[in-house]
Amino acid sequence: MTSSLAAKTVDLLTNGRVTVHLVDDLGLVVADVEGTTVPHRVTLKDGRWACTCQAASFGRRCSHRVAVQLLVDHPCRPDAVTAVNS
Ligand SMILES: [Zn+2]
Repeated sequence: MTSSLAAKTVDLLTNGRVTVHLVDDLGLVVADVEGTTVPHRVTLKDGRWACTCQAASFGRRCSHRVAVQLLVDHPCRPDAVTAVNS
């Protein structure tokens, strides 16, 4: 369902649902994403992305995480771009 992921990611970004709180040189990222029903927190710590949503808890790449990856210009950004374009 990558096309659905792309659509959701674009929706999050174009509707301003992503708020990045922190991006530092040590690779720490903290952002909040307004979900359909509840807000989700997306974090990058020690090179690992995490999101508090249900999809992420099942190990899936969620639109929240991809949206934040696209915003913060992290080295993993090309990976997120690939996810959106595929
Ligand atoms: Zn998520």
